[in-house]
Parts: sequence; C-alpha cells; structure tokens
Amino acid sequence: MKPFVDDRLDALRGPALRLPYNARSLAALENNPRCTLRALLDVSGSDKAAIAAHIGYPAPFGQSAFAFARGNAFESVVKDNGCAELLRVLRETLELTLPEVAYLDLNDVGGAGDNHTRHEHTARLLLQAARGTGDGTLFDHPLLHLKVGGQDAFLEPDLVAFRIDGRFYVVEIKSFPIIDGQADPAQVRAATTQACAYIIALRALLAQNGISPEAVSDTIVLVAPKDFTNRPTAAFVDARKQVAALTRQLARLERISDLVDLLPEGLTFDLDFDKDRRPRRPAEELAAAVEQVPATYRPDCLNHCEMAFYCRERARAEASLDVLGPAVREQLGGIDTATMALGLARGQLTPTVDQSDMAAALRHAARLRDELTGAYGGAA
Ligand code: SF4
Repeated sequence: MKPFVDDRLDALRGPALRLPYNARSLAALENNPRCTLRALLDVSGSDKAAIAAHIGYPAPFGQSAFAFARGNAFESVVKDNGCAELLRVLRETLELTLPEVAYLDLNDVGGAGDNHTRHEHTARLLLQAARGTGDGTLFDHPLLHLKVGGQDAFLEPDLVAFRIDGRFYVVEIKSFPIIDGQADPAQVRAATTQACAYIIALRALLAQNGISPEAVSDTIVLVAPKDFTNRPTAAFVDARKQVAALTRQLARLERISDLVDLLPEGLTFDLDFDKDRRPRRPAEELAAAVEQVPATYRPDCLNHCEMAFYCRERARAEASLDVLGPAVREQLGGIDTATMALGLARGQLTPTVDQSDMAAALRHAARLRDELTGAYGGAA
C-alpha cells in the first residue's frame, strides 16, 4: 500500500502523468529554497507550465530553435571523434595530464534502452573505474539516478565525466561564450547548479557501493565557446557552496510530509485534462487552489520557474517586498510590505518595538527625499 504522503501528492497532481525531476528542476530547488509552492508542484510532479498558462500567466521558457541548434552544433564540436576537442582543451587549456584516454559512450547499451537498464550500465562502468578494475577515462552520456522526495529521478546529462588522479570530474558543455576569460555570471551559475545535481547523484551512486564521496570532485569543468568563435575553451568552477545548498534542499524534500500536513483538506492542482490534453477545470478555481499555498517570489524566479509571472503578480498585489529582491528584503527586516514601509516612512503607522530603528531610518530617508525633491522642484 502506498504511504499517505504519496497518495496526497498524487491527489495534488490529479490523474495526469507525473512529470519527473530533471537537472533543471533540481537546480531550481537551490535557486529558491524557501518556496513551498515550487517544492509541492515539483515533488507532486505537477505540470507547472500548464498550470501557469491555464491561470493566465504562460511561462516565458523554451529555447529558440536557433539557440537549440547552436547548442547542439557546439556540443558536436566538443564531442566528435571520441571527445577529441574536449581532450585538447583539458590538456592545453587546463593543463591536465591525461596521458592515455579510454572513451566510453554509456548511451550504448544495445537492445532495451530503458532508464533502469541504462542506469545499471552506467553504474557498472563507473564503479569499475572507481575501483580501478575498469579502463574508462572519459564517460559520455552517463545516466544518473537520485531519489528526490521519495521519487525516482533519472538525470540524463549531456555531460561527460572524466577521471583523473582517482577522482571523477563533471564536465558541463554550454554554448554561451567565454569572452576574454569571462562569462555571464548568471549563466555560469545556472550551469553550475545543474552540474551540482550530477555531482550529488554520482556521489550517491558511489556511496551506495562503499566508495567515499571524495571520489567525485566538486570542481566543475565548464566548456564553452572561446570569444566569438566556435572553438571550445574551458574553466574550472568551484561548486562547493552550491553542492552543499542543493544537498540541504534535497534533504528538505525528504521531509515533504511536513509541508503536506499543512495543506488544506482536498487541495488539488488537477487541471482535469480532456483526451486532447485541454484543461477542463475552471481557471478561477485552479487559481484559487494555487493561491492557498505560500510562494516566496524573488526577481530571479523569472529565470528558472514556469510560475514566475503568476507569482510576481501575486507578490505585487500583496505589495510584497519580495518583488524588490532579497537585498531590499534583508535591509527592511521585520517589514513585509511596501505599504507598511511607506506608512512607517510617512509616520502614518506606529512601529512595533522591533521596527523602531528601521522606522526611524525610513522617516529620515523620506525627509531627505522630500528635501531633495523640494530643492530640485524649486530650482526647476
Ligand atoms: S516563481 Fe513562484 S513558485 Fe516558482 S520559485 Fe518563484 S515563488 Fe516559487
């Protein structure tokens, strides 16, 4: 019999097929760890994009065909001929000593290629390498596995893992450029966070077989186009903090029953699809259900969550300071809304004891602003 929590999560999703976790949805856990709505939608396997669209806030995500083609073309450049270009970059750019290299494509299982078969194949070859009984150095297309909130998540990275000096390293191949040794920090962070999921999954595989997690490095090798060419270059990225943060979030999902216990009786995000996958559930009813779950909007949700336009609108309607980002939120500790901040600044609200210092600072800022706008207004 299924445990109560699984039944409750199934009821949240409705009869639709569960959407599995992938590296991107796992990475989002680290991006907004406090968000209950995201945690519940993901762990129940609900279709966030379909929910957002049905309640009037379609997701802005989706790679353009051009970006997709460019990404695939660059990956081919790096991986063709047994990862010859990758080897060049590892040796020349990163100055790694990889004298003899055995390339293994772990996609190549022959016959049935279901996730379990492919994962077993990956596990067998990586474990042989870790124990020094196999001959692989470069492992292309490993299929990794994690339990997330009690659910199987197969991570199908386009990545290569390589082994040097007894340690595995995860390689992330991305098509955004590294120009003069610098790349867009937001894109590097997103790539690193995804790679963290692979590191954690690889460590879990080794740990289940009595091998220390230290056998997997938490330094990632980022491979991307150099300057404005299609020629690959590479850089090491330290992912220690992100690995630790994502590990904490995964542990939190193991305690998902704590969140489920707080949900109103009968709450569901079921879209009630018809046979053509058109939602039959009234949009207002679904919106009312979603609204019952706390969401912790931050501006960078726009980069990683399908619910972002909905949550931004909701935070604005509540005059939440979340819309202004964590820096403002932290500065105005103890004050939850813009309405409250303005009321304190104008002396229209009486601060609590905890708010008194912040209220004095806000009144001071308001006075300065009035003086400045008055002065400039007078001069105009
Ligand atoms: S967009 Fe909404 S649901 Fe998604 S992480 Fe942000 S606050 Fe949570």
